[in-house]
Amino acid sequence: MPALPILVVALPTPLRRTFDYLAASSESLQQAPVVPIGARVLVPFGNQQLIGIVVARKSQSDFDPSRIKPIIRTIDHQPLLADDLLQLCQWAADYYHHPLGEVLSAAIPSALRLGDSAEQESEKCWILTAEGISTTLDTLKRSPQQQALMKELQDRYHGADQVYLHKDLLLQGFKNTTLKSLAEKSLIAQQTIRFKPNRELPLLNQPKLTLNSDQTAALEQIQLSQYNSYLLHGTTGSGKTEVYLQAIEQVLSAGKQALVLIPEIGLTPQTLGRFQRRFNRPLTLIHSGLNDNERKQAWLQAAAADSDIIIGTRSAIFTPMKNPGIIILDEEHDLSFKQQDGFRYSARDLATIRAQRLGIPLVMGSATPSLESLLNADRGRYQLLQLPRRAGDAKPPAIELVDLKHQPLLEGMTQTTLDAIRHQLESDAQVLVFINRRGFAPTLLCHDCGWVAKCPHCDARLTVHQNPNHLHCHHCDHQRPLINHCPSCNSRQLNCLGQGTERTESLLQEQFPDTPVIRVDRDSTSRKHAMQNILDEVNTGKPCILVGTQMLAKGHHFPNVTLAVILDADSGLFSTDFRGPERMAQLIVQVAGRAGRESKPGKVLIQTHVGDHPLLQTLLRQGYNAFAKIILQERHLTQLPPYRYMALLRAESKRAENAIELLRLARKLSESTLPSSPDIFYLGPLPAPMERRNQRFRYQL
Ligand code: ADP
Ligand code: ZN
Ligand code: ZN
Repeated sequence: MPALPILVVALPTPLRRTFDYLAASSESLQQAPVVPIGARVLVPFGNQQLIGIVVARKSQSDFDPSRIKPIIRTIDHQPLLADDLLQLCQWAADYYHHPLGEVLSAAIPSALRLGDSAEQESEKCWILTAEGISTTLDTLKRSPQQQALMKELQDRYHGADQVYLHKDLLLQGFKNTTLKSLAEKSLIAQQTIRFKPNRELPLLNQPKLTLNSDQTAALEQIQLSQYNSYLLHGTTGSGKTEVYLQAIEQVLSAGKQALVLIPEIGLTPQTLGRFQRRFNRPLTLIHSGLNDNERKQAWLQAAAADSDIIIGTRSAIFTPMKNPGIIILDEEHDLSFKQQDGFRYSARDLATIRAQRLGIPLVMGSATPSLESLLNADRGRYQLLQLPRRAGDAKPPAIELVDLKHQPLLEGMTQTTLDAIRHQLESDAQVLVFINRRGFAPTLLCHDCGWVAKCPHCDARLTVHQNPNHLHCHHCDHQRPLINHCPSCNSRQLNCLGQGTERTESLLQEQFPDTPVIRVDRDSTSRKHAMQNILDEVNTGKPCILVGTQMLAKGHHFPNVTLAVILDADSGLFSTDFRGPERMAQLIVQVAGRAGRESKPGKVLIQTHVGDHPLLQTLLRQGYNAFAKIILQERHLTQLPPYRYMALLRAESKRAENAIELLRLARKLSESTLPSSPDIFYLGPLPAPMERRNQRFRYQL
């Protein structure tokens, strides 16, 4: 008998435990091969069969041996999950109080979870034909898109070695139709290959920039041979990405891999292009647009070290790497690094743990670091690297407040703001208008009787949308047709109150009929390539007005935007969320960072009713750091995170009493288990900020 015949298996069930199985039936145990830890096994579970992961082996079970069933079969003879990843999942299951089987399910691509072979398959790629190699770009000058794509391919072609254009390059902004047109001209052809990287090529495909002194100092401090968490705090446009690229270069030349986590892939094709163009090394993108098979391929490529740079959103923190060398997390303050439902986790915190266990550096960058990270830097847990100046020639934008008090408003805009926009457009520049609410108006109100359109399932108002016309609940997705008379008094005097992106868009289009007004929000960018088409238009540099939600604030590089307008800064200051002011400040700084990124100076206008608010004043006069200090002091005084830990228990039920009762019990249980102490403070059960949502009552403790 093998010394350790019992397999401890994690199964995708909500049960918070693992299960014991015999490695083989008792008769064949002698001959059975040892099942490695981290391998998938098929096992009987009740009257079903499930695929689980072997997380340990042991000689004896605590259960009655006669009741332990043998596994049905082993799926992998090599571990699918390497030790470090398995340990990360175990840590997460423990820390976030989530069943290990479900954590593993989140970490493994679904195709593999369902039992697909872990062999890499051949993939369809585009390559240059002989004609494509020798053709001059001039012949394509009538189609700039085709020309740009050919240039990209030719730039990457190094003599005998073919360039394989992966599907992922499409994310850099090229379109399938462009590929097809080039194929029709026989300049490129499709090939099915089993991808293997060629590391004989020179590492750099493109010369690097000469770092300025701040960048040099930052790069020199990053030690590649050991764990350390670095907080790279650099103004927008200060050259953080260049520091990442040069750190990655060192990692790659040591034969290791880099994992780069970013908030949203579809929004940042320009940044992706920079990574792709810099290196002659395979790069893999892991994002929500991949189908199951593509996701599996990407995962296996990274695991086999066939991919040197892996870029992905939050869940990519679980990407296996054979030779990990560095983890980079860009825009570390971004909320999207937190998974807010199901298996809740913070990719930023997991990145720290993973880097620590691997003994590699973690570099977290932001122009507006979260208060948690600033405090960690202050306490010496993160090493602070600063880039206080913009790189190149760009100057920081001038920020001005526009007082809303007593001003006549045109759909939420003052004359001063409209004049400023006109002025920029006349000097051939582009303008960005930021408003954090999509739809036309957040409220539909009857002027005669005061009736308001509410969601039948939530404690929320229905938002009026005009494109297409309807009422929409942004909390539960309930939709109904727009009405033209009041259901309560039959009056036709229905008024739209407040502004959303659609309303601002139509006002601006009315005011500036000769200028394209482009709306950027979840509704206008939901179709494939929609964002890319928008970026293409903006990148022509012609005057235009961009109206959008926070999507606009994220990492874009718009060289010709010289004015950014924030329609309403007040909601953040008076938010019910204690993190409201922090978010508002991050947003203002990030939006401001979109203006004047190149030689043209930028300007930011912030409309507010409370221009003399001390927080706003501090932010504008002394900057984000000074602002963050004040807010941290407040959090300290009020004993809020990051000075104290906060755990939220939320219960939801169709009957409010059930939710309240459960939380009462939870509190009682906690009070009887933990000795009472000044360190523990309970609040609740209380109604959650939106008490009824999607037909459920929500309470919290
Ligand atoms: P961030 O990531 O901090 O927003 P980027 O790395 O995108 O900043 O840099 C902003 C701009 O400055 C880019 O156009 C980039 O090419 C340029 N840049 C960055 N570093 C340098 C440098 N050392 N010399 C010249 N230009 C630079
Ligand atoms: Zn009415
Ligand atoms: Zn609703």
